[in-house]
Amino acid sequence: MTPLDGFDLVTPTTLDEALALLASDPAARPLAGGTDVMVQLEAGQLPPRRYVSLWGLRELRGIVEAPDAVTLGALTTYTDIRRSDTIAREYPLLARAAEETGGVATQNRGTIGGNIANASPAADTPPALLVYDAAVELRSSAGTRRVAYAGFHSGYKQMDMQPGEIITRVHLPRRSGWRDYYRKVGPRRAQAISKVCVAGSIAMDGPAVRDVRIALGSVAPTVVRAAAAEGALRGKRIDGESIAAARRALVHEIAPIDDLRSTAEYRLRVAANRVEEFLRG
Ligand SMILES: Cc1cc2nc3c(=O)[nH]c(=O)nc-3n(C[C@H](O)[C@H](O)[C@H](O)COP(=O)(O)OP(=O)(O)OC[C@H]3O[C@@H](n4cnc5c(N)ncnc54)[C@H](O)[C@@H]3O)c2cc1C
Repeated sequence: MTPLDGFDLVTPTTLDEALALLASDPAARPLAGGTDVMVQLEAGQLPPRRYVSLWGLRELRGIVEAPDAVTLGALTTYTDIRRSDTIAREYPLLARAAEETGGVATQNRGTIGGNIANASPAADTPPALLVYDAAVELRSSAGTRRVAYAGFHSGYKQMDMQPGEIITRVHLPRRSGWRDYYRKVGPRRAQAISKVCVAGSIAMDGPAVRDVRIALGSVAPTVVRAAAAEGALRGKRIDGESIAAARRALVHEIAPIDDLRSTAEYRLRVAANRVEEFLRG
């Protein structure tokens, strides 16, 4: 038996057809670029089942600008993100995440929808999506709904998505006046899974912090927003006292583990150091 025995691929040409196929077989799963699914199949981690390819669906492509939001189709690849002037200008954390993801082949096939739905706490776009207050649009044959990305992942590999539903779009509210920070810490500079990933964005009101957002990957069962650390900073000046308060808050709201790539202790220390680096600008 090879890993591809039981791999049944169907290739619809419209979104409606894809949704009907998924509705007719609760065990079926969507397939986008296949950069996670193919690796998991090869490793024998997935049961035999039908995959419904989304790759040919034009409805799921494109980056669209509107006055209140920029919307990415679920099939937007890392290469699409890297080539977008809008993303480079307004959502630099997403551009950085795309640059840091795999190599060129992975960037040409891997999609933002697949990165979200694969639900890895070490994935690179989710910290940026949390900082940008992204919303995820989901569609099934029963209809469309939109959910805040914050809270979409409720536990390790758990998410607010039902069989038959697919991610169709990711909405990013328009923004200006923020200073952004992104740092992926891995075992090497390229083609690495993160040990810790920190994304941050800060807006000042004179000398005081008007608003701040900090999100981290690889430090908990899901990517997390550091709400307590943010709370310790809002309305304050950035100085030794507020930075120390943010560091103290942070270590209580992340729960890193020891694993193959790193230790919990290293992750805690590096996460706090990177947050301090972000705040000191
Ligand atoms: C060599 C290599 C290096 C990599 N490096 C990185 C890295 O540095 N950082 C990183 O974050 N990831 C990395 N990855 C993982 C992977 O490339 C990304 O997670 C990618 O975004 C997955 O997208 P995909 O379209 O290939 O997903 P697929 O493999 O097609 O699907 C992944 C999962 O998402 C589901 N899915 C896909 N699209 C949808 C949708 N629209 N709606 C609902 N469910 C959907 C599938 O059913 C499946 O469960 C790497 C992978 C490889 C092979």
